[in-house]
Amino acid sequence: MSVKDLKRMGNPILREVAKEVSIEEICTPEFKHLLTDLFDTMNDSGGIGIAAPQIGVSKQVTLIKIPSDSNRYPETEESKLFTIINPKIEVLDQELQGFWEACLSVPGLRGYVERPRKVKINYLDEFSKKQEFIAEAFLATVFQHEIDHLFGKLYVDRIKDLNLLSYEEEYQAYLMKH
Ligand code: ZN
Repeated sequence: MSVKDLKRMGNPILREVAKEVSIEEICTPEFKHLLTDLFDTMNDSGGIGIAAPQIGVSKQVTLIKIPSDSNRYPETEESKLFTIINPKIEVLDQELQGFWEACLSVPGLRGYVERPRKVKINYLDEFSKKQEFIAEAFLATVFQHEIDHLFGKLYVDRIKDLNLLSYEEEYQAYLMKH
């Protein structure tokens, strides 16, 4: 197990467009190692998603796994583990939905972000197999948040009203109910 240091907002790697991964590379032991590091770091930090740039690797890879017992996101449905490589995202429903997002690279904060409520993602999995997944509701937000990381974007870029950016404790004290 190898838990990596998380890169935080301000680190330029989080603002780069990450490189696509070749099919040959997906088969290499080094790449499997990267997937293990991402998984271990996500678990260690209690995250529900992690992108390679967040551990200092500028490649188009992200993992998503919503556990059944997420403290940070109560009342969310459990998901399987998604390994997402070179994703292409398409909006299927422009209608916006808002969630209070958090990010391992922006520790201690929460911000209210509105995003399209339904998206389709085409990507390669860890076996280089083409996959298509339609994400709705909270999972649609998680996919968009993680894929943003591969294109140099953070959720704070998408907050429309900065009154809705808060420290975690103040979020719980004042904002959570609204
Ligand atoms: Zn994030």
